[in-house]
Amino acid sequence: MMVSARRSARMTGVLALAVFAALIAVLPAAAQGRTIALVGGQLLDGYEANPIHHAAVVIEGNRIVAVGPAAEIEIPPDAEVIDTRGKTMMPGMVDAHVHIMILGHGDYADWFPWFEGNDDLVYETSAKQLLMAGVTAGVDLSAPMSSLAFRDRVNRNEVPGPRLLVSGPWVTRYAWDFLPDELRVLHRTPEEAAERTRMLIDAGVDVIKTWIGTTEEDMRAIKSVAGPAGVPIHCHVYEEEVVWGAIRGGCDVLQHAGSGGSVPAYSQELVDHIAMEGIPVVQTISHRIWVYPATLEFPERLWDPDIINSFPEPIREQVLSSYTKDDFWRKPYFRSTPRQIRNSERAARQFIDADAVMAMGTDTGSPLNFHAESAWREVSALVDMGMTEIEAISAATKVSAQVLGLRETGTIEPGKLADIIVVDGNPLFDINVLGYVTDVIKDGIIYKRNGVPVWEMNRAQTSTSGS
Ligand SMILES: [Zn+2]
Repeated sequence: MMVSARRSARMTGVLALAVFAALIAVLPAAAQGRTIALVGGQLLDGYEANPIHHAAVVIEGNRIVAVGPAAEIEIPPDAEVIDTRGKTMMPGMVDAHVHIMILGHGDYADWFPWFEGNDDLVYETSAKQLLMAGVTAGVDLSAPMSSLAFRDRVNRNEVPGPRLLVSGPWVTRYAWDFLPDELRVLHRTPEEAAERTRMLIDAGVDVIKTWIGTTEEDMRAIKSVAGPAGVPIHCHVYEEEVVWGAIRGGCDVLQHAGSGGSVPAYSQELVDHIAMEGIPVVQTISHRIWVYPATLEFPERLWDPDIINSFPEPIREQVLSSYTKDDFWRKPYFRSTPRQIRNSERAARQFIDADAVMAMGTDTGSPLNFHAESAWREVSALVDMGMTEIEAISAATKVSAQVLGLRETGTIEPGKLADIIVVDGNPLFDINVLGYVTDVIKDGIIYKRNGVPVWEMNRAQTSTSGS
């Protein structure tokens, strides 16, 4: 979608709020000075422009240095060439709503007791799965404080994963009993909400995530701390009055708006206000509305070896047992799904018709919403709801990066960080080919090549040379 001048001004405000510390990555020696050229395929650069056919992209170290038709681009003789003929090169996807502490397990009440004590193994698994699905940056919107140290390891390229921003625990008046202790700290007054915000910012979070029950007065108190610190507030909101209160209180990004709860259609006044002011909306439309009917239709998807085998043994057991010991549609998580399907579709069309700023976010990791497929499902849902394919791809790359304040990623152009994926086919013809990511480069480092994760290639090489 085109961003009007008025909305650009608001976007700039969001950018100014952004925290860039998490982007300052220390390059491993292997990536420094290395030259890679992707040559021959179609290029979508993240803008809503026509593709460049038979294109080439040259990377030096962790930066893109040249982009254009292959016939016009000089490929350095020392470059490692990746043949992309017949495929499409595009920016890595940016997910504006991820959860690395969960990864598709069917029942939160059974998952969290197991998660505690296994947090690093879970984070590492989630991050790898996201990266292999073509997600090269994202914001995590609720995890224990241990997620901050994990973020730093990923951003130093010590473990594979998307560039991460993290919120740490929620600022909230409610919480489920089964959550880890750290996520059940509640505020009862706006003053306590401000205190909690101060504690999180001092500890080093990149964004604040407010959860349900946050009042307009709470939001003002949170903003009084987060605003001057330059930390954006992501707000979990459904009902029209709650959305208005969040906006008046200074919320920076509306999360879930219109995708859940029992809300009637939003008023045109609210939708127009959000669109005209350029307040970013991350709707997370596909997580329940796709997962539920798709699993009813084809329960075999839960045993897809590509997904199951990407879990390490102890997690695989946990996940498989979560849907064999009980039928998934009886889980409380899905109780209101049919109503949510109606609401989500209606609200998505409202925002798309109004030309609101919509980033791509998936709520990935929620029950049966696997990191391995959440991103392409969400982009596909955006197309089903009325975006053109190129708009949806731009939402999932350029727009999401802007909304997260990640100025150096989200598009393919000289000077940008080298976060590029290759997909097998033409997503402008069939958006679902985003589910076939063959190559992933993040920060100039190749993490997936011809469909194979690098750590599996390394293992194969080690076992060959050792035998
Ligand atoms: Zn969420």
